[in-house]
Amino acid sequence: MSRDYSPPVYEAERFHCPFSKCGAFAHMNWRQIANDVFTAECASCNGKSIWREYLAKTGISYQKAGTLLYPVATLAPHHHPDLPEHIQSDFEEARLICAQSPRAAAALLRLCVQKLCNHLLGKEGDINTQIGELVKNGLPIKVQKALDSVRVIGNESVHPGTMDLNDTPELALVLFRLVNLIVQNCITDPNEADEIFGSLPANKIKGIEIRDKGTK
Ligand SMILES: [Zn+2]
Repeated sequence: MSRDYSPPVYEAERFHCPFSKCGAFAHMNWRQIANDVFTAECASCNGKSIWREYLAKTGISYQKAGTLLYPVATLAPHHHPDLPEHIQSDFEEARLICAQSPRAAAALLRLCVQKLCNHLLGKEGDINTQIGELVKNGLPIKVQKALDSVRVIGNESVHPGTMDLNDTPELALVLFRLVNLIVQNCITDPNEADEIFGSLPANKIKGIEIRDKGTK
């Protein structure tokens, strides 16, 4: 993906903010911070994008252009809103480095899955054993597949040889979606069911409890 911009975007007073959380078509306040490095502060989110200026050849003449250094553009999806807070920074870091190093992103996503398993089981342990335990507790097969895929691919990516994710960056992108799928199935869906169940009339819940006692 090209990160080079010639005017009108580069040096423009207004353009689409490159921060994915913002993206507003906003006024930009340019400032020079080094010889050829400039920042553009977004009036909408106050985020400062960083640009390196260079001369781009157009025909026989040159014109000023800029390369966006920060934020790094990424195609990786955002984390699921229900991803526990203490795991969000690992996910976000994986997004930021995904374009440069799909392998590093995959290793970080494996760490996310490790932490998710700890979170779901309420204890720490070996990731492989933890997934086994979740399966025993009734984890749907598609979620188990997602967990194992991120676990294995993330691990292979730090042991060079069998799988080089840098050759297949698309695969790293799939891992982001799998982590989100795990969150949807293991956190969001059960929470929703709990919420709806909790809103049933008290006497109905009592009746259900009596029924279940009777069938045990
Ligand atoms: Zn912005």
